[in-house]
Amino acid sequence: MSSVFANSTLVGLLKDNSYTGTLHNIQRLPNLNVVEQYWAAWYVYLSNDILATGLFFFLLHEVMYFGRSLPWFIIDQLPFFRRYKIQPTKIPSAKEQLFCLKSVLLSHFLVEAIPIWTFHPLCEKLGISVQVPFPHWKTMAFEIGLFFLLEDMWHYWMHRLFHYGVFYKYIHKQHHRYAAPFGLTAEYAHPAEALTLGFGTVGMPILYVLYTGELHLFTLSLWITLRLFQAVDSHSGYDFPWSLNKFLPFWAGAEHHDLHHHYFIGNYASSFRWWDYTMDTESGPEAKAAREERMRLRAERNSKKRV
Ligand SMILES: [Zn+2]
Ligand SMILES: [Zn+2]
Repeated sequence: MSSVFANSTLVGLLKDNSYTGTLHNIQRLPNLNVVEQYWAAWYVYLSNDILATGLFFFLLHEVMYFGRSLPWFIIDQLPFFRRYKIQPTKIPSAKEQLFCLKSVLLSHFLVEAIPIWTFHPLCEKLGISVQVPFPHWKTMAFEIGLFFLLEDMWHYWMHRLFHYGVFYKYIHKQHHRYAAPFGLTAEYAHPAEALTLGFGTVGMPILYVLYTGELHLFTLSLWITLRLFQAVDSHSGYDFPWSLNKFLPFWAGAEHHDLHHHYFIGNYASSFRWWDYTMDTESGPEAKAAREERMRLRAERNSKKRV
């Protein structure tokens, strides 16, 4: 029996042999918006929350990740877009893309499928709700904003750690196979890296619900979708005049992460620019020149003091 409605007898009354029949029954209920109706019908129809949550998250991950990578694959085939490519001479070959696709698919099924299938029992233990109606949109927006900030912080420090000696050699080197990344490479990484950096995406909401006692699974699915889009887009290799970083100067975007792949150093954060800016780890020749200029001025000041 599903816990999508607070009243469990309602679930039995609404269930039909088909998904559309179940949806039709639910549409007769007052006060549910369209998304909530489809959500509730999914849980009532399957009447097995472990399967419903597991299957939903697995499909969400696959559809959003590959669905978001596909436009970048098409753009790579169109010479018109070459003018927006950050490293214009480095167009990924079909062979490179196929290799990456196979590797990402394998890791999705082997590494990431397990936590996805055990996710619902964990949600129940933590108090993550699947019930309709959903929380107010302002609550969801606040929580998603907070997850972006926390994930970015976690990503910055863990990614920086992955660039040290043995961590780089045995784990992170795999992700740096592509000096000019493309959308699909976002999740091309060693399993240990996928788990560590993945903690920023899934673990931060878990810490949040442990602290507050309240979080909705729909909020979590929106957050994971946006985070997947951010990860794929930052690996796209394209910087457009209409890219988000042109409107939000603190947004990292592809320009920021492409430099990281190009120079193998600096720009460790995922979504925002402030950690690299304040910790003086910005990547690229301009940032390097500015850093050297600051060092020169500091050295001059110090030598004057001594005189
Ligand atoms: Zn790196
Ligand atoms: Zn990367």
